[in-house]
Amino acid sequence: MNEGELVKLSAPLLAGEVALVGAGPGAADLLTLAAAKLIVNCDAIVFDALVSDEVLNLAAIGTDLIPAGKRGGRPSASQDDISETLIELAREGKRVVRLKGGDPFVFGRGGEEIRALAAAGIRFRVIPGVTSGVAAPAMAGIPVTDRSVNSSIAFLTGHEAGEDSRVDWPALVQAFPVLVFYMGAKNLPQIARRLMDAGLSGETAVAVMASATLPEEATSIGDLSSAASGELKAASPAIVIVGDVVAGRVAWRG
Ligand code: SAH
Repeated sequence: MNEGELVKLSAPLLAGEVALVGAGPGAADLLTLAAAKLIVNCDAIVFDALVSDEVLNLAAIGTDLIPAGKRGGRPSASQDDISETLIELAREGKRVVRLKGGDPFVFGRGGEEIRALAAAGIRFRVIPGVTSGVAAPAMAGIPVTDRSVNSSIAFLTGHEAGEDSRVDWPALVQAFPVLVFYMGAKNLPQIARRLMDAGLSGETAVAVMASATLPEEATSIGDLSSAASGELKAASPAIVIVGDVVAGRVAWRG
């Protein structure tokens, strides 16, 4: 499938084709040109909760806007249901945009969706998006790599800080001077404790950037101690940045 000539990413969708599109962190300004073109010129948009109204408002009047995870009015977060919805819409001959926050393949389950589409013989394309793990630090004025600080970054999910963590925390802090956590707002105190137990100083800088590029955008700066004690708080959705790059911050947003 999709072999042969390379389709221009922003070329109009064919009937029965699905585009898995990254919507970026929120502001429509950070959509790719391909994403914007496909959003305005499709029949149906199946969107995740994190996709902003500003982005959805670009859709043409008459576009079918379908919240993922809700079928027939019933709430259901099943990934199989979402893939099934995409396949059904494509089989009806619709030009479908599957919109996901940030980049579809970064903690976005995009892989599961393209495998389901491929198995069903549905034509699809993938439009990368600006991932929040890069956009949020930028909005906070934090360079995620800074020559004097780091030559590597780890992107992680904050869901791994609980009892059954699969992360080797000591190895992680040894290997990566800068850690960027997605989905870390709720578990921030546990994450901070894990990192200190793994050997990082309580004074290691931490930045929390919530709702980057959205009207309620908010940055908080602290350290691992204040994050562990709950003094440094994070509202969802938030990106948590740990490491000395935070010290090189130049706040440039309002
Ligand atoms: N595919 C997405 C990530 C999905 S996981 C991407 O590439 O960005 C969901 C997590 O993304 C949230 O828990 C939060 O950590 C992060 N996130 C998404 N949008 C955000 C935003 N505007 N500001 C801060 N964090 C955001």
